[in-house]
Amino acid sequence: AQTTPAVTAPAVTTAAVPVVPAVVGAHTTVPLVTGERVTYANLDHGASAPCLAAVRDAVDELLPYYASVHRGAGFASQVCTKVYEQAREVVRKFVGAHATDVVVFTRNSTDALNLLARSVPRGASVVTFDTDHHAALLPWRGPRVTRIATPETPQGAVRALEDALKQTPEGARLVVLTGASNVTGELWPVRELAAVARRFGARIALDAAQLAPHRPVDIQALDVDYVVLSAHKLYAPYGSGALVGRADWLHVAEPYLVGGGATKHVVDWGDHLGVGWAPAPERHEAGSPNVVGVHAFASACQTITQHGWDAVIAHETELFTRLRAGLNTIPGFRELSIFGAAQERVGVVSFTLDGQDPGLVAAVLSAEHGIGVRDGAFCAHIATRRLLGQAGSDTDRAVRISLGLGTTAEHIDRVLAALRELVAHGP
Ligand code: PLP
Repeated sequence: AQTTPAVTAPAVTTAAVPVVPAVVGAHTTVPLVTGERVTYANLDHGASAPCLAAVRDAVDELLPYYASVHRGAGFASQVCTKVYEQAREVVRKFVGAHATDVVVFTRNSTDALNLLARSVPRGASVVTFDTDHHAALLPWRGPRVTRIATPETPQGAVRALEDALKQTPEGARLVVLTGASNVTGELWPVRELAAVARRFGARIALDAAQLAPHRPVDIQALDVDYVVLSAHKLYAPYGSGALVGRADWLHVAEPYLVGGGATKHVVDWGDHLGVGWAPAPERHEAGSPNVVGVHAFASACQTITQHGWDAVIAHETELFTRLRAGLNTIPGFRELSIFGAAQERVGVVSFTLDGQDPGLVAAVLSAEHGIGVRDGAFCAHIATRRLLGQAGSDTDRAVRISLGLGTTAEHIDRVLAALRELVAHGP
């Protein structure tokens, strides 16, 4: 027999959610275990965001001109070269980079951060926070890497960075910051942290993989040196990303992927080949580049900018407020947080439900309700474990719901109803 949940569901509002660019697959249906089909509710934008319809159309237009770039006077190669170089300028503008900054196209943020790690001068000090995504936490090597145990307030993080930098020797320094946590969605006080880093002459790299789909990113306003992005989190398909920032280290760094396109010249000296590497960005883009992916990436940046951030942020805020209000009425709901529940967030929330296995919760949402969420430790194992402990959860994994342009009010109401049912009756 069905019992009534112990809590009252918040009223379903019909308030208008601001209109935002359309995504592909908004009406795609998926089968449930019952055999019924429902529209798929993608509440996993933090993993990968659905492709924008405008991006699909832009890709469609380019496909007849499939060719590699910088490979001679063939018509298709010329078209692709133009598209590729225009995309660099679009991405540069998207993050407010200086005219002298370099835009290196990479496979994703992980690739971009690894490239930066290879480009940091030998002997430099690198400072990270333990709440960073593994992509930002792991690439740095050597004795001068400091990992700060993230304090419980943004002000504490600023003080902790200052303390850590005081311990670093004179010389090149790099501070790695995360714009928005992929675990909790919380915004980091990037400007304040950057100001501290500057007092020590340090450079700042901003992992904006999770921030850029939700808020404008401006290298100059934030006063950071490098920004990394992943296209697949920014409403374009997989396989493209960028490292944008100061040119000097990148101009001299040994390329970690070598081959055609990265060289100025190659000469035969008999016993060895003499190679003159091109300057950045070509130096770090060996091989035939992902022209279609880069075009899609730039189209997504352009579409979001043209539509306007106000609508994007308003859409997400409206839906996220509705989601969190509902979640907070569910018995046994425990939200993960770095800086406390009041800290501003993008539309990402990770949580546990007392007595419920996160993997099973995600599986039930998918199989019985057509809702995609993420469960696990979100490639941030240290942070997730610590935050789970702080939240009083007795598991080492959590469930993450993340919103974006593909989210509708119906998705929010569906996941809330499903979670309430799960808590009331079990999986
Ligand atoms: N940084 C953050 C904050 C992320 O959320 C992610 C992906 O989840 C990454 C970096 C790595 O992105 P990618 O897998 O596209 O390289």
